Amino acid sequence: MISLAGLVVVLSSLWILFICLEKENPSIKAEMPALSMAIGPSKNLSISVSDKKRGLRKILIAIVKDGKESVLVEKEYPSGGFLGGGKINQDNISLSLEPKKLGLADGKAVLRMVAWDYSWQRWWNGNITTVEKEVVIDTKRPDVSVLSGIQNLNQGGSGIVIYSLSEPCENNGVYAGGNYFPGYNGFFNDKNIYMSFFALEHDKGPGTEVFVEAVDDAGNSTRRGFKVFIKAQIFKKDSINISDEFLNSKMPEFDVEASQDSKTPLADKFLKVNRDLRVENYKKITGLVKNTEKTLLWEGVFVSFPNAKKMAGFADHRDYNYQGKQIDSQVHLGVDLASVANAPVPAANRGKIVFTGDLGIYGKTVFVDHGFGLFSAYSHLNSFDVKEGDIIEKGGVVGRSGSTGLAAGDHLHFSMLVNNIFVNPLEWWDASWINNNITVKIQDVKSGSK
Ligand SMILES: [Zn+2]
Repeated sequence: MISLAGLVVVLSSLWILFICLEKENPSIKAEMPALSMAIGPSKNLSISVSDKKRGLRKILIAIVKDGKESVLVEKEYPSGGFLGGGKINQDNISLSLEPKKLGLADGKAVLRMVAWDYSWQRWWNGNITTVEKEVVIDTKRPDVSVLSGIQNLNQGGSGIVIYSLSEPCENNGVYAGGNYFPGYNGFFNDKNIYMSFFALEHDKGPGTEVFVEAVDDAGNSTRRGFKVFIKAQIFKKDSINISDEFLNSKMPEFDVEASQDSKTPLADKFLKVNRDLRVENYKKITGLVKNTEKTLLWEGVFVSFPNAKKMAGFADHRDYNYQGKQIDSQVHLGVDLASVANAPVPAANRGKIVFTGDLGIYGKTVFVDHGFGLFSAYSHLNSFDVKEGDIIEKGGVVGRSGSTGLAAGDHLHFSMLVNNIFVNPLEWWDASWINNNITVKIQDVKSGSK
């Protein structure tokens, strides 16, 4: 029979063997890309370190450059006494790495993270985990050279900027009045040459800030301005009377409810459609334009709806009146063209069909992606002649005109977008505008004359 003393010896031995001498290494987790990580002028790192068993003893985070180790963090954790192990099992460390402050030059380096626990392993030094990550210190800004010439830009109009970058920058493009238009390479043989179709929103006039910005992997950014002449535009003011007849015929189409105590439920429903649904539809559109084709699918002038009368213009400012009172105002961001009912609607230019479906106030709508962020949209259609994924040629029929959505009669609401901004289609219907503002600029860069 085992004595009490013997039992104590056995239990203490087991305790020492399995608890004090546990062999589980501490864990170090850092949020980092799998491959090499770029470190710019300042890089925030977040590192989580844990040891589930005996607890954390120490952590050391350092950067090793050209054989020299610079300590970023060195931290010892409290002990619970000789027998107790560590008091801390988990810690999150946030640090800001600033190479210049540490006197580190640009180039490859290693981020070293070492953690020890309170195990009795290795003669009371603990289990040890070492994680090393290759990093690249890059504090140099990318260089941006604008290659295209002077920009003449109309309020509500489009433009193109062509520029070269000294290094690949995942984020590069044009900012115009706070709106961002990504730039794309791949059009020119030189992979360092990018182009960005951009636009000036209808409500942004002369004095709007326009520039190219490039941000490299390490977060170094460069902004480069270029010569822009912005021409102000005066848009038409229009007022529309909303009749009960219109509301009676149109509102059932929309899945919105007026509040129960409303004295004018149809007019309230109209407001929800004209305001809230309009915003919701625009959100859908901004999602659609994100995955534009990285190729120029179109060529030459854009075509309009044949034999049609223009009923409303781009950026017409519309007041909506009901029972003699103004109840709403909106900006009309397309051109309304009326022909005969159920008329075939041609694609304005070559492109890819990226949407056919019901789009709230726009009714049955087709979106054509012309590449590099340029889109045309055909709304209030009665039916579709294309499906998503089709490539449509210029003049190919996308559908038949109708009055679906918020339309009083059969007409086409034609709109164009550069990235997520509605632009004036008049420019794209004008062969000399396209030539002077787009084609010549591309040709000049292609031939190397600029
Ligand atoms: Zn319209």
